[in-house]
Amino acid sequence: MTTNQTTDPKTRRRAVHPAAKARPEAKPQADGAPSGTAETESFKESAERFSTLAVHAGEDRQKLGHSITDPIFASSTYTFENTQAVIDFIEQRQPREEYGRYGNPSQRVVERKLAALEGGEAALLFSTGMSALVGLLMAKLSSGDEVIFFDECYHRSREFCAKHLARFGVVTRQVAACDYEAMARAITPRTRLLISESPTNPHLSVVDLERFAELGQRHGVETLIDATLATPLNLRPLAAGIDYVLHSATKYLGGHNDLLAGVVVGSKEKLEPVEKLRGIMGAINAPQNIYLLSRGLKTFELRMRRHNENGLAVARFLAEHPRIERVYYPGLPSHPYYEVARRTMRGFGGLVTFLVRGADWRATARVVDSVRIPRIGPSLGGVESLIEQPLVMSYYSCTPAERASYGIYDNMIRLACGIENPEDLVADLAQALEQ
Ligand code: PLP
Repeated sequence: MTTNQTTDPKTRRRAVHPAAKARPEAKPQADGAPSGTAETESFKESAERFSTLAVHAGEDRQKLGHSITDPIFASSTYTFENTQAVIDFIEQRQPREEYGRYGNPSQRVVERKLAALEGGEAALLFSTGMSALVGLLMAKLSSGDEVIFFDECYHRSREFCAKHLARFGVVTRQVAACDYEAMARAITPRTRLLISESPTNPHLSVVDLERFAELGQRHGVETLIDATLATPLNLRPLAAGIDYVLHSATKYLGGHNDLLAGVVVGSKEKLEPVEKLRGIMGAINAPQNIYLLSRGLKTFELRMRRHNENGLAVARFLAEHPRIERVYYPGLPSHPYYEVARRTMRGFGGLVTFLVRGADWRATARVVDSVRIPRIGPSLGGVESLIEQPLVMSYYSCTPAERASYGIYDNMIRLACGIENPEDLVADLAQALEQ
């Protein structure tokens, strides 16, 4: 595990840009986004300098070969000068690499960078978002333990809990998203972890993080937020008292639809067993892949601001369109969790889910097939926009009753806005809705 020893986010920030000033205040609009931006007032004074962190945090100032970029160490093993060096390493006198399954130098750099971005003590990088979740759950839970999660979530996370944890004697309970009282009622002395996404996928419900954290603390149960759809720019779960933040770094953090990765951020102590299990599972990223992630992260703030802008522009357009029955986007005042989102989020992200008025699944598919810019595909958070019909893409094998229980409707479309120009995305949707 890599802690943020060399780069405390605050001191690093000051060291890098001593003269940096907070952004000037912008006037809020009725929906909470200051005019001309897609950001809420909530975060205006936090002025986290994400780009400075994304570019520099975690990196040595002077690198091997005087390179400005971090080298890719294409090595499966690491050699020792002599037997004493092996013993020094085993007795933890000399931190260094040993064997590729336990980690590699590129990974340490990106872990420090991600910990700094998230404001956490330590970060653990995994090969995918799912392996990060599986690794954390397997490391933390034993037979007889219980997990409770809000039911709106990535379908594979639900599947892992319901089908696979059950085989190891771990009981999982689902309660309706954001129903804190139902979650409190479901807690027993065997409950070890409360899990939610925020915003949730694909309904974009937003968790009141402080309430969620307080629920866990009151019952002595740890909390995990999958903040993939928000990113560290838009949501600060650790600051709200959440124990673990998880991201599919495949999405906005990598940002280019060209890699898979996952990360968990939290305290060094709490993550220690997770790191040990990761070393056994081998669910780590290859150095070449980590280079792509590191490269993608450099532009994280710039990209994310455009995703926020595009998401809001598209959501506002759809909300006014006569062919649209409903838009799920936490930046719209019509969204049930708008007030929580306004209070807790900086921007609302690039994912917009909507229902086509009176359309059956075929008519809905025609809208998907008529767009010219977004490509049809799963995933989100990359520079290229992606569109999908959840019924077809992820829930095709489910019965209608199962789909209804997950809130997946025949006329639902999920659009993951990329970083194209907002006017082009809106014009494209306008023409697709006319077909
Ligand atoms: N969490 C959320 C919210 C997701 O949407 C996904 C994937 O779509 C994952 C986790 C899993 O991430 P990965 O695909 O990197 O394994």
